[in-house]
Amino acid sequence: MSDESSGTLANLAHEERRFDPPAEFAEHANLTAEAYDEAEKDRLAFWAKQAERLDWDTTWEKVLDWDNPPFAQWFVGGKINAAYNCVDRHVENGNGDKVAFHWVGEPEDDTRDVTYADLKDEVSKAANALVELGVETGDRVAIYMPMIPETAIAMLACARIGAPHTVVFGGFSSDALANRLEDCDAKVVITSDGGYRRGAPSALKPAVDEAVEKAEELGHTVRKVLVVRRTGQDIEWDDDRDVWWHELVDAQSTEHECEFFDSEHPLYVMYTSGTTGKPKGILHTTGGYLVGCAYTHWGIFDLKPETDVYWCTADVGWVTGHSYGVYGPLANGTTSVMYEGTPDTPDKGRWWQICEKYGVTIFYTAPTAIRTFMKWGDDIPTKNDLSKLRLLGSVGESINPDAYVWYRETIGAGTAPIVDTWWQTETGSIMISPLPGVTSSKPGSAMKSIPGVVVDVVTEEGESVPNGSGGFLVVKEPWPSMLRTLWGDDERFKDTYWSKFEKQGYYFAGDGAKKDDDGDIWLLGRVDDVMNVSGHRLSTTEIESALVSHPKVAEAAVVGAADETTGQAVCAFVILKESALKEGEKAPDSLIQELRQHVQKEIGAIAKPRQIMVVPELPKTRSGKIMRRLLKDVAEHREVGDVTTLADSTVMDLIGEGMDSEDTKES
Ligand code: ATP
Ligand code: MG
Repeated sequence: MSDESSGTLANLAHEERRFDPPAEFAEHANLTAEAYDEAEKDRLAFWAKQAERLDWDTTWEKVLDWDNPPFAQWFVGGKINAAYNCVDRHVENGNGDKVAFHWVGEPEDDTRDVTYADLKDEVSKAANALVELGVETGDRVAIYMPMIPETAIAMLACARIGAPHTVVFGGFSSDALANRLEDCDAKVVITSDGGYRRGAPSALKPAVDEAVEKAEELGHTVRKVLVVRRTGQDIEWDDDRDVWWHELVDAQSTEHECEFFDSEHPLYVMYTSGTTGKPKGILHTTGGYLVGCAYTHWGIFDLKPETDVYWCTADVGWVTGHSYGVYGPLANGTTSVMYEGTPDTPDKGRWWQICEKYGVTIFYTAPTAIRTFMKWGDDIPTKNDLSKLRLLGSVGESINPDAYVWYRETIGAGTAPIVDTWWQTETGSIMISPLPGVTSSKPGSAMKSIPGVVVDVVTEEGESVPNGSGGFLVVKEPWPSMLRTLWGDDERFKDTYWSKFEKQGYYFAGDGAKKDDDGDIWLLGRVDDVMNVSGHRLSTTEIESALVSHPKVAEAAVVGAADETTGQAVCAFVILKESALKEGEKAPDSLIQELRQHVQKEIGAIAKPRQIMVVPELPKTRSGKIMRRLLKDVAEHREVGDVTTLADSTVMDLIGEGMDSEDTKES
């Protein structure tokens, strides 16, 4: 039976390496293997126990209401305030002097430590300021900011008064911002004059001015724009609309009595990164979301709040920055690092200098960053003392086994466990991951669903696939931090996530995955990206990992392009390591052939790329994910589609030019 007729994905890659947790680590781990049993025995009781990490003003009457699927209610009847849980309660418990954020600006020596007591004062003042601007419970507030403490303060101030925030990545264009302002009907925008990026001030306010104007054309009025002065650069000013943060917020009282909201009160709307198309406005509510963040941040990162220094490098403009940059760590009373700038300013060692300076113990980043550091060379991170790092995390894409091993060896001294965490904007918090003190991890596999979460890989018909085969990744039971709907569009919510396996009531994540012979899960990329080569369904992830395992390759992206003979053919785009070629040298044809052979050797002739194209960069979203749909357009000689969420729009021109000039076809 061909892979196609069974409706499953071909299972190609083989990986034999295993990494056990160090004995010391396992002995003191927050989560032990018992948690799996406990959750399996009584899942809702398990979640109720996790909810007790938080302070509730009124305890819930019912853990889950799933009478009207797919619309879930968690901790029904409970009352809670997210900001109180992230800030006030730590101060009340005597931890006011503890640092919440070691903030590091991009310009050197521009640093600020914000304690929990500072945070309480600042959040209270900002909450009072929002009230003065006319923001009421339930109103939406957009946040378009650099990575500065005021960004987290603004989010928490919104949460404190029950005004759902929508954070828009500071690098997005005014169009993207305008669409989001209109889509979620934002009353107020919080922004700054600019932030520092790549060694220079980079303006933000002009994009807000434009976006507010564009939103007006779409029939939506923003009432006020609250502006933090960060860079001091010249900006336009509208006296009726614009308000300086330092004038309004600084004049407020540090006292703000917070109200406790229903557990299902909306906390925020976050737009997905748009890898597969138009971003979706994901709605998260308060109680369940915070439970998911606090539990996973404590359990998966093995957080010891008294001693750990934690750094999640994600920008607050995407969900990782929300769940693991702000809500999870603060709910757990963590000391975190927050960094404003790019990893290569003023030099390529900046992240590791920061790790050394603050003694970072837990570090969470994305495979794209790891591969970039591999490309730059080992001598950069090894200049710094990274010996305090005891746990590493990865999120956003599958981590290629070679990148995993490099991360473990070069950053983690060959001992730090790695948690490869699979989750989505929609899931709110981590769903599949090793438990760092329990799991014998396999590089490239996210392993299995965490205690409390029930994930499976199923066929088109919704049947669980046997070990050793692939299919669709689904979540079989509701979980506390699940999205509640798409903002203003219940139909699209049902349609996008719940219609494919409606009969079974499964949430369909959009991703393909396989179970290996032990039943461990390997993520294989988007099902939309699955290629069909001569009747074999191939995943992008495995071929990309095979390419990255070649010593000269730093990054790879694979797409299926229409092909007369095979239906689709594998087309690969690769970035070479800096050491692979001499300055100005063009990749020789022999190297292209070598890479094609390498894929054949690693996973088989069927996966051998028809075409390999050496490129200087790959099109990525702001959160560092490769946008394969754009590469597919290039490979099929089509006009390139929607690029509004692309990090650098010139990348597509570079690739297009290369395409015209280089003959990379099979010879
Ligand atoms: P859109 O839904 O608009 O196309 P997006 O899916 O890229 O955007 P996110 O919610 O930020 O937006 O990303 C979630 C996706 O990222 C997952 O569905 C999965 O494809 C991928 N992903 C995240 N973590 C992992 C991981 N550890 N391993 C493999 N894939 C991952
Ligand atoms: Mg998605």
